Amino acid sequence: MAVPQPKLELRPLGNTGLNVSSVGFGASPLGRVFGPVAEDDAVAAVRRAFQLGINFFDTSPYYGGTLSEKVLGKALKALGAPRSEFIVSTKCGRYKEGFDFSAERVTRSIEESLVRLQLDYVDILHCHDIEFGSLDQIVSETIPALQKLKQEGKTRFIGITGLPLDIFTYVLDRVPPGTVDVILSYCHYGINDSTLKDLLPYLKSKGVGVISASPLSMGLLTEQGPPEWHPASPELKSACNAAVAHCKSKGKSITKLAMQYSLSDKDISTVLVGMSSVEQVEENVDAVSELGSSSGIDQETLSQVEAILEPVKNQTWPSGIPQN
Ligand code: NAD
Repeated sequence: MAVPQPKLELRPLGNTGLNVSSVGFGASPLGRVFGPVAEDDAVAAVRRAFQLGINFFDTSPYYGGTLSEKVLGKALKALGAPRSEFIVSTKCGRYKEGFDFSAERVTRSIEESLVRLQLDYVDILHCHDIEFGSLDQIVSETIPALQKLKQEGKTRFIGITGLPLDIFTYVLDRVPPGTVDVILSYCHYGINDSTLKDLLPYLKSKGVGVISASPLSMGLLTEQGPPEWHPASPELKSACNAAVAHCKSKGKSITKLAMQYSLSDKDISTVLVGMSSVEQVEENVDAVSELGSSSGIDQETLSQVEAILEPVKNQTWPSGIPQN
């Protein structure tokens, strides 16, 4: 008989009352942004994730030009689970065609997303990559439009996402408390870049839930390596490549180490990792389960990897329009 897996830890998401699994399912790979993914594999990955206790799924109309939302919708439906048992976030304002944070576009956007996701509501609707828009428009037009959608029951909570960390303070300092429920930061809480750490006390003081995405730095910390569009500098790519090679030569898993590193901070409610196969789901959940066991993180390998990444530590890349 198979040994039952311990369920993943659930953590409160700010003041939302939602309890999210410490590992969340990033669905951008379902939009084939990291390479081809067969629909059956995607559906099986979502099912396995849910079986192993992952209750949080994140997507966007931008990922694969709406493909990710469609495939995730299909996969969630196939679960046959009560709607209250899974938490779904999608986004608005960023599309294959470009950015549009106007009230009119984001209001239409959620209707389109709900059709693709085959849902009546989402749990979180994020403004996607706000550094590409006017932050003042986000404050004065986009977020008020999302509040209306919240009142209408199309979304339960409102979030903002993006790469530069100061966009979060800019917006959160200009909206009434409780208006923005969560933030989603990416590529800032991993072995090569942990700058989100410094912002956590501020975010906590604002009562917002913190979602940290891309623990594998969008593929930099994987054996497969980053996709062709990855915006990191050649120097950062090459240092990460050296770290991956080091782990491989020792018979260690870089993804396991990276997942465990990103999950170590309890002020982060959930770590969103992009997955597209049952194997990846099982590996990533296993990495977390091991953290809770006596073995914990492999400190020796972590120190070696940190030394390799030292010259590029906290190096990031430009994102957004110049005034932001
Ligand atoms: P990631 O760091 O999670 O890396 C994903 C890549 O790693 C994919 O190629 C995936 O197939 C691979 N991978 C995952 N587990 C693996 C394993 N065990 N072994 C080998 N390879 C493995 O990057 P991401 O997918 O960009 O980020 C996670 C999620 O966070 C996204 O899917 C998305 O939902 C969200 N996100 C949001 C924003 C935003 O709002 N601006 C930005 C980035 C990410």
